[in-house]
Amino acid sequence: MLCWEIGHRLEEFAAPTRDVTYPALEHLKCFVRSTLHTPSEFRSSTNFPREVSPAAYRMSKPHPYRALKIPKNAPFTLNPSPGKGWGAFATQSINAGTMILVEELLFIIRKAHEAITEIDVGAAVQQLTAQQKNQVLLLRDNASKPFSHMTEAFAENSFAIQDREQLQTRAHGLFLLHSRINHSCVPNCKIPTNNEEHVASYATRDIAVGEELTFCYEGDFELRRRHDRHQRLRFVCDCIACLPNTPYQELSDMRRTLLRGLQYLTLGHDFDGQRQDSNSSIFLHAEWKEAAETFRIPIGTRLACDLLVMVLLEEEGLLDEMMVERLRLTISTSITLFKTGRNAWITRLAMERQTWSAKFGFASRLYGCEDAADAGIVAKLQMLSLLRGR
Ligand SMILES: [Zn+2]
Repeated sequence: MLCWEIGHRLEEFAAPTRDVTYPALEHLKCFVRSTLHTPSEFRSSTNFPREVSPAAYRMSKPHPYRALKIPKNAPFTLNPSPGKGWGAFATQSINAGTMILVEELLFIIRKAHEAITEIDVGAAVQQLTAQQKNQVLLLRDNASKPFSHMTEAFAENSFAIQDREQLQTRAHGLFLLHSRINHSCVPNCKIPTNNEEHVASYATRDIAVGEELTFCYEGDFELRRRHDRHQRLRFVCDCIACLPNTPYQELSDMRRTLLRGLQYLTLGHDFDGQRQDSNSSIFLHAEWKEAAETFRIPIGTRLACDLLVMVLLEEEGLLDEMMVERLRLTISTSITLFKTGRNAWITRLAMERQTWSAKFGFASRLYGCEDAADAGIVAKLQMLSLLRGR
């Protein structure tokens, strides 16, 4: 298992503060571009998008999924997806940011998955209209045979959603069409939020006609390596970031490990809220670890880390507009906090750069620099941590 010394890597990234080029970052980019393919080239070279020949299903009798009701204006249809049963495929070009589908909840069960019984699912189905019941009965196990148990059908086709009445309780809802969309660790769609009424999906990048629509089934996969992701999924994903023994996949693991380390540095804990221990797959120098966990990372270094996160997410194909909006808030807040004139000046010039790579490159001059605001920020973060009981 690869193990990255995050502190060392950051120093390597930030080292060229006296230069206008950033060798480590450029090396990382060149590695992607020269060793294999860019993501778009890779997709075409591996028969992606998975356009399914009509002949592949013309000879078989109509699959039950042909009877699933898709809204007339939806930009996709359901077709067989090699190795995945069935999937949703774009029937028209879809621009980044376009809403794919809003789907109403069929029913909700307010229990943890492991506590849901046949009686629970049966009772919920009984409440449906005859037409809705018929739609539920169309579900197939891996798109081939009817489910033997209703709990299986529900488990494989439901979404975890937030229960409004009891915010701490997870609930699960059935959405027939969205559950047809397959997973990818480098998806082209996203479901930003869901609730008890509906889910809505959006394109995170431009999607070509015939391309399979995908979204990521878990919320923190940008921080997890291939092996870790597959353990969570309980199936082997074959997306561009998961095809084994490829330079792209190895680089993807490196980027996601580095992203996880950067998050640790800025938040002071891992994605599960825990502190790093000897079994952790990330590694921080003891000095860095202690500084992160006591929130003593200087604001200049924090900003460099946050901008490097943007660069890495962009390289990984995960920096969609929704992600930018969320992370830009943290960065925007950070740049208002600098009190040392030189640092504020560098920050302003950095943010005037056009690309995240250029912004990071310029702001890396702040790496390791102290600022007059640091002591106050450390005190506030430590106070917040105490209030949260961490
Ligand atoms: Zn994958």
